[in-house]
This record gives sequence, structure tokens and C-alpha cells, in this order.
Amino acid sequence: PAQQTARPGLLGRLLGRREDGPVLRRTLDDEMLESLEELLIAADMGVDTALRVTANMAEGRMGRKLSAREIKQLLASEIARIMEPVARPLPLYPKTPQVILVVGVNGSGKTTTIGKLASQFRGAGKKVVIAAGDTFRAAAVQQLQVWGDRAGVPVLTAPEGSDPASLAFVAMTKAQADGADLLMIDTAGRLQNRQDLMEELAKIVRVIRKKDPEAPHNTLLVLDATTGQNAINQVETFRKLADVSGLVMTKLDGTAKGGILVSLADRFGLPIHAIGVGEQIDDLAPFDPEEFAAALTG
Ligand code: GDP
Repeated sequence: PAQQTARPGLLGRLLGRREDGPVLRRTLDDEMLESLEELLIAADMGVDTALRVTANMAEGRMGRKLSAREIKQLLASEIARIMEPVARPLPLYPKTPQVILVVGVNGSGKTTTIGKLASQFRGAGKKVVIAAGDTFRAAAVQQLQVWGDRAGVPVLTAPEGSDPASLAFVAMTKAQADGADLLMIDTAGRLQNRQDLMEELAKIVRVIRKKDPEAPHNTLLVLDATTGQNAINQVETFRKLADVSGLVMTKLDGTAKGGILVSLADRFGLPIHAIGVGEQIDDLAPFDPEEFAAALTG
């Protein structure tokens, strides 16, 4: 299985390497809890979540002597408990085309994620259409076409600077006419002018609803896990701009900041549909709470 995070675990430094040695037992005391809290905060879990995790872990166990391994397991199970409710694959609906609006700031991995998802859907026998809705960034459109080619999925584009909502309408019409199962719509990620972006997203939603009142069926927010606590602000911002229904967390490979997922889960409870674990087309994995917790603490 794909690694949920490639980093060595958090606790190595605190507990030493000989984790399984029966010799190494530590007392679960205030000092130990403080050290654990610091590690969790350093991994971007956020202060509130870190305090809650350690408090739960310590409940009824203060003063006990625990092996390093037991400490890791306790911590991992607390983390997994928070993550389990949000580990949910993207729901697929019988009614087609299912419209997936993809939002997120530039650089978060939207294009890559759309490509990876398209490839997975196609592999599952679905007919997919992509709309390159970030019409103001020519580079983004080109990049999406590259991903579409890789995935073997058509990418609908519009002239640079044209109205994304018009493209969304054309794409919706085509997806319906072609009997597509899924339509993924990329969107602009410039937060510099939120009012503009909000109107742009609202207009896209308005026009696709002319074709299907229930669309979009999912609004995926793509977040870069390496941005740490900044991801919290992004969720708050995008929830004001769109009706975010779930998250994809990218760049989980190569970050020591995986704690941000716990913070997000604890705070918003939004489903995490998938995680990005690399730059290649197959590097998108379902989110596995136990594996994630074990890797984070391990
Ligand atoms: P967009 O601006 O949001 O569309 O972002 P892109 O999809 O262009 O991605 C920005 C950069 O992040 C690119 O260099 C991608 O290769 C990289 N990237 C995206 N997802 C992942 C991931 O899961 N892991 C890693 N390591 N890199 C990723």
C-alpha cells in the first residue's frame, strides 16, 4: 500500500530507537505528556487538537510505566479514532454525469489530482470528461491537457480569459450528450481577489444547475499538506466561497507536517476522500486512518 506519510515517525527522537526493548519503560507523567504535546504541535496538529489527543491518551493511565511501543500505540489509536470518521472514499452516484467541482489555491495540486482521479475513474471503466475551468491561466490549461492525455480523458478548454461558466455549461452539455459518468471541473485558485473568485464559482454552479439541479454533486477542496496550519485558513476561506463537500490532501509524501490532517479532521470533520503521495499518475491513495496514525507516530 502507498505510504500515508514517508516521514520517520514523531516519537523516535523522544523515545529512542530501541523501541521494542522491554528495558526502556517510561513513566507517563506530566513531563512525558508535555514532550508529546510539543511533538504533536511541531507536526502541525495545532495546540487544541494536540492537547486533546494527549489528554485522552493519559486518561486513567497517569503514573503508569509504559514501553515506548505502548506509548506509540496509545497515541496512534487516539489519532486513528479522530481520523476514522473522515476517511471516506469519494461517493459515486448512480445518476450521471456526476459533476465534481475542484477548488483550491494555485499550487495545491488541483491539476495533478484531477489527472490522477481521471485515471482512476477511467481504470474503473468510467467515462470521464474534464473541463479546464481556470481559463485565465494558460499554463494551467496546458498542464491539464497533459494530464488528460496521460489519463486518456478528453479535456475541454476555452480561449484564454473567457468565461469559465460558459465552458462549464458547454462541458455539462457535452458530458450529458456523450453519456459521461463523471465531469470534473477545474477552477481558478487565485485568492487575491476573493470577491471575483466567489462570483466566478457561484456562476459556474448556477449554469451547471440549469442542466442538473443537483450539480455539482461534490465540491472537492484540494489542500497541500506541506502548508501546515495554513490549510486551516484555506478551508475556512473556501467554505465561504463554495459548498465544500470533501478534501483531497496532497503531498503527504515528504512532509513532517502530517499532523495537519488531524487538526483538520478534529476541526471541520470534512471527509478526506484521497491523499496525494507523489507526482505520478498512480500516486493517489485512499486515506487509511490506521496506517496514517502508525506512520505519523511510528
Ligand atoms: P495546481 O496549481 O493546484 O493545479 O497544482 P499542480 O497540480 O500543478 O501541482 C503543483 C505541484 O505540486 C506540481 O509540481 C506537482 O507535481 C506537485 N504535486 C501535486 N500533488 C503532489 C503529491 O501528492 N506529492 C508530491 N510530492 N507532489 C505533488
